[in-house]
Amino acid sequence: MSADAAFEVVVADLLRQPGVRRSHALRAPLGRLETVGSATPSDAEVVAELVLEATGGTALVVEGTVSAPWRGSCRRCLDDVDGVLEADLREIFERRPTEGETYLLGEDRVDLEPMVRDAVALALPLAPLCDEDCAGPAPDRFPARSSEEEPAAPPRDPRWAALDDVHFDN
Ligand SMILES: [Zn+2]
Repeated sequence: MSADAAFEVVVADLLRQPGVRRSHALRAPLGRLETVGSATPSDAEVVAELVLEATGGTALVVEGTVSAPWRGSCRRCLDDVDGVLEADLREIFERRPTEGETYLLGEDRVDLEPMVRDAVALALPLAPLCDEDCAGPAPDRFPARSSEEEPAAPPRDPRWAALDDVHFDN
């Protein structure tokens, strides 16, 4: 099967058996998908773990998860940051889809790729952080939080401790 059709599934038998659920684990690179703050590497494999079920013989319910690696820049320090996104989905495929709401169901097969692309694009982080505590580009020169703290009191000179025990008789 070519990568182009990696997310295409024959569903003729499912459409004849409404209510029967069938699992599919599909994986293939989908090229670079991007948003403002991050993108999938173009050769990264997108994985979809899906359950397909026909309803009424003319529509298909698809639910499951998609996951994909992503890369981006930390919004505070601009260092490279990467991760793996995972998104739940539940979508309807039908013969005459409604734009923006349902997807196209073919005669005897369904192409799940548009749905997988949408789910990945929506799950990409818009403003990633390398770390929740990232302090920015130069934390030593621009302390993020210590500037308002009082400097700690210097430790008491131990030599004075001896005087604590001295009592003067008047
Ligand atoms: Zn950072």
